Parts: sequence; C-alpha cells; structure tokens
Amino acid sequence: MHLYIHIPFCRANCSYCNFYFSVNRRHEGRFFGALLAELRQRKDEIAGYGPLQTVYLGGGTPSLARTEHLETLFAKIRKTFSPAAGVEITLEANPDDITPGRLDLWKKLGINRLSVGIQSFRQQDLDLMRRSHTAEQSRRALDWIRRAGYRNVTVDLIYGIPGMNMTDWEEQLDIFLDYGFPHLSAYALTVEPDTLLDRQVKAGKVVMPDDEVYEAHFFLLRDKMLLAGFEHYEISNFARPGWYSRHNSAYWESKPYVGLGPSAHSYDGRNLRRWNLANLHRYIRGLEKAEPYYETEVLSPADRYNEYIMTRLRTTRGVDETVIERHFADFYGDFVRQAQRLKARGDVCKQGNFWTICPGALFRSDGIIAEMFLVE
Ligand code: SF4
Repeated sequence: MHLYIHIPFCRANCSYCNFYFSVNRRHEGRFFGALLAELRQRKDEIAGYGPLQTVYLGGGTPSLARTEHLETLFAKIRKTFSPAAGVEITLEANPDDITPGRLDLWKKLGINRLSVGIQSFRQQDLDLMRRSHTAEQSRRALDWIRRAGYRNVTVDLIYGIPGMNMTDWEEQLDIFLDYGFPHLSAYALTVEPDTLLDRQVKAGKVVMPDDEVYEAHFFLLRDKMLLAGFEHYEISNFARPGWYSRHNSAYWESKPYVGLGPSAHSYDGRNLRRWNLANLHRYIRGLEKAEPYYETEVLSPADRYNEYIMTRLRTTRGVDETVIERHFADFYGDFVRQAQRLKARGDVCKQGNFWTICPGALFRSDGIIAEMFLVE
C-alpha cells in the first residue's frame, strides 16, 4: 500500500508554482484535525490494499509543519497500520526549514528519505523564482543532512531558468554530484497558467529561453548523470542503482495508492480514481461537518489504456506489449500500428516485448506520448 499525504502550507508563493498550497497557516491545527479524521475514515480502505510500503509527505511544504502535528500524525499512522521495518517514508523539505534539530526529530518519527527542494544553488535563480530560501541555506541544509546521516536523499533542481547558460547548469549538477546523494529530480521551468511567472512573461518582464536551450540543458543533464553512474529511470528522475523512489515508482507502475489532504488523488489500481477538493476550507469543513470533500471517476477502458501508455512511456522500463495484448485487446491493433509508425520515425524503440522512447527523442516525450493516446 502506498500512502500520499498533502500538507498544503508554504512560506512564500513561488512564481512558477501551480500546486495546491496556502501561505496562510492560521488553520494548520484544524487542517491536521481534518487529516486525522480522513485517515480514520479511510483506514479500512487503506488496509485493504495490503501492508504499508511507502508513505510520502508532499505539498505544499511538509517540512513547515509544526513538530507536534507531525508527531501526532506519525503516532496515528503507526498505531493504525503497524508499518514494518523497511517502509520508505519520504518528507519533502525546503532548505529554510532544515535544522540539525529538525533532522533528528524527523529521523525519530521514522522519516528515512528526504526530498529537498533546492531548485537552484544560484541566488539570482532563486530570486527570479521567488523561492523563500537562499543559495547559502541550500548548501548549509545539504551539509546538515549529510552530517545527520541521511543516506536516502533526493534533490530537486530546475533547468531552463531565464539567464541560466550551459556552464551555469553544469555547475549546478557538479555541486549536486559533489554531495554524493543517490537521487536527483530535474525539471524544466515551465510557465503554468495563472501563475506570477505567467503574468510576468505576458507583461514582458521575464523572457523564457528558446526550446533549443531547454533541449541542450536536458541532454547535458542526461549525459552528465549517466556518466556519473546514475540511471535515467524516468524522464525527470535519475538514481544510482538501487535508489529509485519506491513511492513514485508505484505511480508509474499503476499500483493502488491513497492520497489524503486537499487536492490529493487516490487510485484503486483498476478503474476508480478519487480526488479531494483543492480547497483547504472545503476540505476541513467536509471532514468536520460530514459534507462532500472529494469527487470520483470511473475510468473507461480507453482512459486506463492512455494512463498505462503515459506512465510507462515516462519510464525506461517502457510499455510491455504483452500487457496491451492481454489487458487492452480491443486497442492492440491501434497500438501496434501507432508504435510502428513512431519507430519508423526514430521516436520509439523496441527491445524484446518492451517499447520505450528512444534516448534521442526523450526531450519530446510529451508530444510522443500524446500521439500514442487513443482519442475517444
Ligand atoms: S514551496 Fe513548493 S509548493 Fe510551495 S509555492 Fe513553492 S514550489 Fe509551490
């Protein structure tokens, strides 16, 4: 069983962010009360999926949560599910929340994997993206993490930031590699609708790089990480052998997961999706007053096929043709036709029964995946 918990509070409004979060922390206490109520309400559903294998606290900024709230939450998780040793428990942490004291506390709570939102080691990038931490805090936080003895650590970095050239990007990767952590998630800076960055770009205050710059950054990233001994196991994720994110891998393998908290999604591994409302007040009220706070959707066979194609083509494992033949027999003919067409174009490659996006085409994954979709 894979459990996701969304903690929706942040210190600042990063200019590019379109996740669900709130910078007003006044209702943190009521939020945690609602979260525990949701956990109680759904405990049989969660237990029904088998023993707990991963817990992921994402956000928002979970590292901002008050100690007493995290203690109560973890006590409840332990009491309800008795997680076995070896459960992967990840906390997303921002550098300005990390202190030696908190690192010790998180360890005592059982958190054994940290996902650190560094984004950039350059102050000008952090300023442009309106991150709340400084470049100096980033370095200090990683030093403390290393000293505290955390080994399972992943860092988030962003490329394609206006003003970032190839040398700058390479320096970022070198700094990351010097720390010796086993996992990196690297994302292109994208302009999401209704964000501050979107407004800045429209007003001509920020000019985004050309596509060629993103592409060059992407391939520099890939080449450098492969050379350093990392596996490029998902479009945005690199890990040393044995250090894949078990939680995110469960998403990409279409395993069941339960998401608690506002905006969190759940999937039963077959055809039922559920998502909580992306609204803190309606979420809290829903749990306090037994009002609706989530929606559900039954996936059609074509939805499930598209989902399978999307998640699998993002990974280096790829799409298993025998799965399509067995589980999506009605679409098998379409799949083979489309895959052969993209293979002739050099976009997808086949090894044994598995189809993957060819390395040279990885940068265009989104478009290629969309071409493989069924349109109902
Ligand atoms: S800290 Fe993360 S979730 Fe919060 S606003 Fe910034 S990018 Fe978004």
